[in-house]
This record gives sequence, C-alpha cells and structure tokens, in this order.
Amino acid sequence: MTPIPILLYHSVGHTRSPTYRRWCVEPSLFREHVDAVFDAGYEPLTVSQLVDAMDHDEVPTRPIVLTFDDGLADFVEHAAPVLGDRGIVSTMYVVSGHVGGSSQWLSIAGESQRPMMTWSDLTDIAHAGHEIGAHTRTHPELDVLRRDHARAEIEESRAEIEAGTGRAVRSFAYPHGYHSGATVQATGAAGFDSACAVKNRWSWVGERRDALSRIVVDGHTPPEQLVHRLARPPATPERQPHLRRLGWRQLRRIQRVRAIRAS
Ligand SMILES: [Zn+2]
Repeated sequence: MTPIPILLYHSVGHTRSPTYRRWCVEPSLFREHVDAVFDAGYEPLTVSQLVDAMDHDEVPTRPIVLTFDDGLADFVEHAAPVLGDRGIVSTMYVVSGHVGGSSQWLSIAGESQRPMMTWSDLTDIAHAGHEIGAHTRTHPELDVLRRDHARAEIEESRAEIEAGTGRAVRSFAYPHGYHSGATVQATGAAGFDSACAVKNRWSWVGERRDALSRIVVDGHTPPEQLVHRLARPPATPERQPHLRRLGWRQLRRIQRVRAIRAS
C-alpha cells in the first residue's frame, strides 16, 4: 500500500490570538514549507485528482496533497502566489455561507473577523488549477447536529459553491474532521465522491474515500520537522482509538444541548 500525505492548512497569514495561532501559518513559514517539500521531489495532486489516480492505479511514486480549510482570503495574498510560482495545485474547502464575508464561526477563538474569499477570488483560484471543495455552509460540528440539519448543511454548501463558481464540486471536508456514519452517508447522498476527515495521520491508496485522513500542519511546524515526518511514513496504516472518539462525540453532544437550552 502506498502511503499518501494529505496536508491540512487553515490560514496562511498573521494572528495575535493565542487560541488561533496553531491554525495560522506565517507567510514566510509557509514558503519555507513549500520550498522544503517540493525540493524533496513530491508530486502535488488535488483531492479529486488523487481519487481519480487511485481509481486508475496511477498514483505517482511520491504523491502529496495540499488542502486548505475554510476559504480565508489570506490564501489569495499569501499562499496562491507561492503555489503558483511552482505550479502546485491544492484543494480549498470553503464555508459557503460566509463567502465574501468573515469567519463568524471563529468567534470563540476571537477571530470572527478574518476576511473570507469572494466568489470572484474562488473563480480565479479555480481557474489557476486549484480545486474548490465544500466545507458546509456555517461550519457546525456535523456529527452532533440533527440529521436533517446536517444534511442541509452538506447539500446546500455544494449547491451554493456550484452556483457561485459555475463549476462542479466533487469533494467535501468535515468541519473539525468530525463525522459519523450518518454524516458520511449524507455526504455520499449529496453527490460528493470524496470527503476529508482530519485524523492527523497518513492516508493510503485504498483508504475509504469518504473519510480520507489528513495531517494538520500548524503554525509551529518547522520545515525540517515537516520534511522529516514526510520522509518517514508508517509501515502500515495507523489505527484511530474508536472508543475515545465516541466518548468525545457524546461529550460534545451534551455540551451542544446545554448551549441550546441556555440560549
Ligand atoms: Zn474548517
């Protein structure tokens, strides 16, 4: 089995918020990441290019997938030029209900005013070869929502992005990586042919494509550490502790009910 690193970035920009610092990679560090990784000879693919390559048994020898969650505007200023210089494509997962606005769902981290890309920005980066995927309308924890609510978040995000960009949307990313059996089923029913989770581990050829594993790259990751990790894939797929995940979901579900009652 071929191990495949699917990297996950959020913001490429600046922040002063201690809570959000982890999710924000300084532009100079991002350039160092890109230089280090691509000098090492990795071949970039979008998520949909990866699943197509899996289908046709054409995954390159040193594949890598860069993904960006949320659709923040700093991608246009700080990431797209660096990637464009090297001809690197990526997949951008967009919170469709906030396109052209700001990152309202990040208020808990004090970052609700980070500008989002506009439809024009998204059309431009798609034209440059980046894939646009969906990431719900409002960035909820899908696995603790009522099923009809979760289904609407998934379906409507796809419809909005297709209407806004004029392009078909094939791939989805679960906010925070949280997904349940029902969430996965709703994603397939909405017409997506791949979906990304987080898991912080390597993906593999043959991994179920409705919950692809990704590795978070945060603002504290030095380029040499990133290259070191990429050079040492695990010999076999890493397992995720199932019971711990279920316990965490139950806790989040209780917190959500309490928050609704308190509001
Ligand atoms: Zn997100």
